[in-house]
Amino acid sequence: MSGSRYLSIDVAGGGPTGLAFALALCAYRVPARIRIFDPRWRTEGGRVEWRDLAHGNRRRRQIVTIQSNVWSALPPALRRALFDRHDYSEVWPLGSDSPGHHGPPRNLPIRDIEDRLLDLARGTPGIELVPQRYDPTRTDLPELLAICEGAHSPTREHFIPQFGRPHADLYCVDGRPLEETILGMQVDTAATAGEAVLLTAAQNRYLLNTHRGGGFLNMRLARDEAAELPGLGRTPDEALPLDAVRASTLWPAISEGLKLYGIDERSLACVRAFRCSLVHRPRFVAELARETWGCLLGDAANTLHFWPGRGLNTALKSALSLARCLARRRGDRLRAADLVEHEGVMQMLQAREVGNRSWQTMLMRDADGAPAPIDVRIRRGLQGPCDRTALTHELLARLRRMRMRLAHRAGALPDDRLLAARLAALDDRTLKVLVETGPWISAEVGGPEVDVAALLPLPAERRAAGSPLPHQWERVRVRAISRTPARAPAVQSNALGNRSIRSHASA
Ligand SMILES: Cc1cc2nc3c(=O)[nH]c(=O)nc-3n(C[C@H](O)[C@H](O)[C@H](O)COP(=O)(O)OP(=O)(O)OC[C@H]3O[C@@H](n4cnc5c(N)ncnc54)[C@H](O)[C@@H]3O)c2cc1C
Repeated sequence: MSGSRYLSIDVAGGGPTGLAFALALCAYRVPARIRIFDPRWRTEGGRVEWRDLAHGNRRRRQIVTIQSNVWSALPPALRRALFDRHDYSEVWPLGSDSPGHHGPPRNLPIRDIEDRLLDLARGTPGIELVPQRYDPTRTDLPELLAICEGAHSPTREHFIPQFGRPHADLYCVDGRPLEETILGMQVDTAATAGEAVLLTAAQNRYLLNTHRGGGFLNMRLARDEAAELPGLGRTPDEALPLDAVRASTLWPAISEGLKLYGIDERSLACVRAFRCSLVHRPRFVAELARETWGCLLGDAANTLHFWPGRGLNTALKSALSLARCLARRRGDRLRAADLVEHEGVMQMLQAREVGNRSWQTMLMRDADGAPAPIDVRIRRGLQGPCDRTALTHELLARLRRMRMRLAHRAGALPDDRLLAARLAALDDRTLKVLVETGPWISAEVGGPEVDVAALLPLPAERRAAGSPLPHQWERVRVRAISRTPARAPAVQSNALGNRSIRSHASA
């Protein structure tokens, strides 16, 4: 069992992954002094808050789906914080990562998830919130650094010599890394869960995720379409100007997507573009400096194709895996061997979510096994002759087949009249694109899931620890730690001298 000495832990990045990791550690009563750093926070009246637009930060509004294997594995305190208001929506059906005994997946806006976790962290003794960027050259590196800074993590890049260089060799078509661009559009929608799910699962051009009258409509682009974006004055991460979007050659396809789900064009509030490509990482745990271990978690570890909606789920699994490993650890000193099981789980997550689910979603093989990525399929849809009657017939038959398959796993699904009306509103080209993009490849990406709770069971005394450890804060002198870099010259400035740091007294 982990000893009574408090581990020093820094968490770089206070998004959902960093917050969930820190809170899970506290819930499992792992003795730790945790500092979480995030530059998207500010201090107001002594309280750490999210920066908002007035402070130069546009909060994300996308709706995310948390699978029931994931939400049910969260410590009770986190589950209560996220779901006790019962304001989540249940849109997507039961599946291998949302089995019937746990219940359906739950939708919430990512902003609410971040707010609720930060709120819980604020009131949790043992967690210090630092509204700053993490400086990887700092001299007081902790024993464990959890890198949770999202897909473009600068701290991960600083420590690439230790983690190893990622490569895209496994994710190429015709010798070139496959890349996709997706538009994400915030809308108001009265579409029922059944409409959103059935119309989405029957094709691969548009995806609608909904929550309480709001929605996010996503549209995958062909390469030529993505090439239009720079002309719209986009800088990375910025919303596209709506007027420019409406005047662009992309607008007809966007407007068809809105019609498919019966969404009023006037409700379109925001359009953003996302790029997606995959890499393979050699490892997720590394010795960053002597007696400092680094772990990549969340999007900083694995960037997924978001179509199957597993980014946050995989991120939370990675956070729970590290927290559980630390809760299972024996002895006082953190050793390499303590993190081996976590590395194993991260490799499984990479194999399942990047190598299998995301890559199959991007590659989308034809019936003969030949790769037919989305670019090829959309272009096929936009070219050649169109037989409207045949296309409508094929789509309706596909929708009926999917409705039968989903009937026992989802709520009320739309009838033939509604489906036919929606197809009738679309132009011939859109019908052909929908046919060519094919239905969701559920069989290829289904199957066993990485179940962190089953792989890393908690010892009896750590289980059902719903409330955080009542820590006693005090200033203590900790042993002098002299850290010299383990390998890479990049961190030679990280040597630590003797110092006094704030820590918790042993319980
Ligand atoms: C349109 C869209 C839809 C999605 N839908 C789903 C879905 O349905 N289901 C699902 O599971 N996932 C979904 N995802 C993915 C999900 O949003 C991400 O996987 C999740 O946000 C990852 O959380 P994270 O904490 O790892 O990273 P982030 O959310 O990116 O958070 C990283 C944090 O680190 C901070 N940071 C950055 N640099 C530093 C630094 N130097 N120092 C300190 N802090 C730093 C940032 O300010 C940020 O707060 C979707 C994503 C998109 C874009």
